[in-house]
Amino acid sequence: MLALEPLVRELRRLPELTVAQNAPLAPRTRFGLGGPADLYLETPREDALVEALRTLSQARVRWAVIGGGTNLIVADEGFRGAVLRYLGNDLRRDGATVTAEAGTELQQLVDFTNAAGLAGLQTLAGIPGTLGGAVYGNAGAYGHSISECVRAVRIWNGAKIQRLDVSECAFDYRESIFKQRPEWVILSIELGLRPGDPDRLRECSAQLVSLRSQKYPPEMKCAGSIFKNLLYDRLPEPARSALPAALVREGKAPAAWFLEQVGAKGMRRGGIQVAAHHANLIFNAGGGTARELLELIAELKLRVRERFGIELEEEVRFLG
Ligand SMILES: Cc1cc2nc3c(=O)[nH]c(=O)nc-3n(C[C@H](O)[C@H](O)[C@H](O)COP(=O)(O)OP(=O)(O)OC[C@H]3O[C@@H](n4cnc5c(N)ncnc54)[C@H](O)[C@@H]3O)c2cc1C
Repeated sequence: MLALEPLVRELRRLPELTVAQNAPLAPRTRFGLGGPADLYLETPREDALVEALRTLSQARVRWAVIGGGTNLIVADEGFRGAVLRYLGNDLRRDGATVTAEAGTELQQLVDFTNAAGLAGLQTLAGIPGTLGGAVYGNAGAYGHSISECVRAVRIWNGAKIQRLDVSECAFDYRESIFKQRPEWVILSIELGLRPGDPDRLRECSAQLVSLRSQKYPPEMKCAGSIFKNLLYDRLPEPARSALPAALVREGKAPAAWFLEQVGAKGMRRGGIQVAAHHANLIFNAGGGTARELLELIAELKLRVRERFGIELEEEVRFLG
């Protein structure tokens, strides 16, 4: 544990900033595992968040930002330093443009734009977590990604607030510039949408939410897909010819197929298990640890590498 008392006193002066010491992170992640953070800070105010980041950097305290914790594995030892969560969830509409604070739940944003008759985000319904987390990982489903609607992103770049045009965000499949710049914090996002019929948008979202809840029961302690799908064009030849052509969609080969071939379904390490119905879905069946989860991930990667010559890449992020 760090000696944090003077820093904590300074942080507690900031408006609407909650400060907790030795705070458990497991309840703040969907996997429900991992150890505590030395400091945990939470605020709905952008100015308090920025001031806290400045204070931590001046004190040379290591920090990390989380959103809803739906794509995170926290180490069993926890995080030495400060973990921050931004709760700002203000939504503003101006014609077909919506500006949203990064702490907004993605589902809350989808509900808002659907009701406003603004199309573009309806297929992202049911993806858990915050808008900040979604932009960080360029979240998507059913052939669409959040980046298709992003016009600009406001960030704290470690020194000042900066506006990035979408062309500066380096969005790609589950990728963005933010993965390369851990010192950047996403504050708000400007989204460009198009007119749509509210009833049809709501219906589309409701159908997808119902499909998704069969695949990912709401109580399941998981992170969605553990591994990214693979770019078909970049697969080595033996893997390409082994994969049934009908499974290739939008140029992507499903990681789940390769995992299934190496016997992933139902595999177990302690309390951590691969779903019996989906080889790319790992969950905490109860009492699982980050160590068991990482061991299972390593074992799956090894098996796929040895059998197909493919290096699976994690979609899930690590903290600690
Ligand atoms: C049941 C289930 C289904 C899922 N289905 C999908 C799916 O279909 N498609 C998909 O793409 N994902 C899916 N996911 C993964 C996850 O929901 C998304 O990646 C989501 O966007 C993560 O958001 P979060 O707020 O929970 O981020 P967190 O898990 O809290 O964090 C993820 C990363 O984002 C960073 N981050 C978060 N907020 C900020 C910020 N403000 N500034 C800078 N960095 C930030 C964190 O540092 C971390 O590295 C699923 C997860 C679950 C549990």
